[in-house]
Amino acid sequence: MLTNDQLDKWDRENFFHPSTHLAQHARGESPNRIVTGGSGVYIEDRDGNRLLDAFAGLYCVNVGYGRTEIADAIAAQAKELAYYHAYVGHGTEASITLARMIVERAPKNMSKVYFGLGGSDANETNIKLVWYYNNILGRADKKKIISRWRGYHGSGLMTGSLTGLELFHKKFDLPLSQVIHTEAPYYYRRPDMAMSEAQFSAHCAAELEALIEREGADTIAAFIGEPVLGTGGIVPPPAGYWEAIQKVLRKHDILLIADEVVTAFGRLGSMFGSNHYGLEADIITIAKGLTSAYAPLSGSIVSDKVWKVLEKGTDENGPIGHGWTYSAHPICAAAGVANLELIDKLDLVTNAGKVGAYFRKAMAEAVGSHAHVGEVRGEGMLCAIEFVEERDNRRFFEPSKKIGPQVAAALLKQGVIGRAMPQGDILGFAPPLCLSEKEADSIVAATVKAVSAVLG
Ligand code: PMP
Repeated sequence: MLTNDQLDKWDRENFFHPSTHLAQHARGESPNRIVTGGSGVYIEDRDGNRLLDAFAGLYCVNVGYGRTEIADAIAAQAKELAYYHAYVGHGTEASITLARMIVERAPKNMSKVYFGLGGSDANETNIKLVWYYNNILGRADKKKIISRWRGYHGSGLMTGSLTGLELFHKKFDLPLSQVIHTEAPYYYRRPDMAMSEAQFSAHCAAELEALIEREGADTIAAFIGEPVLGTGGIVPPPAGYWEAIQKVLRKHDILLIADEVVTAFGRLGSMFGSNHYGLEADIITIAKGLTSAYAPLSGSIVSDKVWKVLEKGTDENGPIGHGWTYSAHPICAAAGVANLELIDKLDLVTNAGKVGAYFRKAMAEAVGSHAHVGEVRGEGMLCAIEFVEERDNRRFFEPSKKIGPQVAAALLKQGVIGRAMPQGDILGFAPPLCLSEKEADSIVAATVKAVSAVLG
């Protein structure tokens, strides 16, 4: 076995890490954690630490670590048939079964699943499908996509553009010109503190409508949004938001893409976030929780309405010119089937709702009245704490103080992994859906210590 020192050296010399300060890492200034194992909500590293992963990797290990049912399904598929493609009508029992299981669980108007590998490529697929759709309908100019500031939809060229976070645009020549952003439904950061949630939702819908009118509805193809803003700060929508937004979209004949990469398969205590908030999407993006990250797999679930136009398109133009080598990869599909079966068997959707509510309440009681905590919020098994310099007049900390990262680092010293969200001083939690109340108590106790270590 290689020594830790050897691995550390090779890591810094040869491994280009995603979302990492490259220069600091190469200089050895940032940690290099070698993860070796995991079980339930815990992971272990080579230094002998056992850490409670209260972010489920990147909110993806929904069933928890070390599930042998999924590992066995992967091994069995790899032995039987590791790969065959899905082009021109090919499939495997695993990929066909998984498509069926997804559509059975999805909102009623959904009918087909296109498989990809990760959330970013699924959203790239979605935008291409939307463009194809409008071309088939003879609406050549209806192509722009609206997303929200603070939305997160991936790191590709188009999806990085859709992502409404500065870090993902800066120095990359993004966003591309077909993408426009509208206001984030972030009630805590509403422009006027006197606004009720309903008033703020109406304000967001009015902003959206004004944008559509400025650009021209006949130039706008789709609106993409996460049911709950995720990486942008873990922000549930204000009351009435989705209803008000969907009214505007319908009026202007704009498709809705629900990006459920984080929320699908139970994270909110409902099978889909669309069910949870009454979204009637035309396309739904899924990834992470589809396999609980035991293998990379994503999907674009397409509604009947969109599907009919796509079919017409191929009758007129021949096969759809969009395909990935690894679409519906048999090993990943087998992982997906075993994962969805496990979610049902363990009733994890119910657990996410129940233990999630317990966890958020306990967190709010423990830190909610701290002088530097502006808000504790969340939904289902998602929770966030927003730190502020002054609570009463909602004055934020200077970003250079890096309060969020400092609290996350202090939490890690307590043996718990949370995530400092990239924009604002926000500590996020998205534990595996199998979290117990006792484990929730451990996260809360560690958080209390971390907050007081940094903020008194
Ligand atoms: N959409 C959402 C809502 C996400 O949270 C993410 C990833 N965090 C993505 C898309 C992109 O997924 P991936 O990193 O698998 O490309």
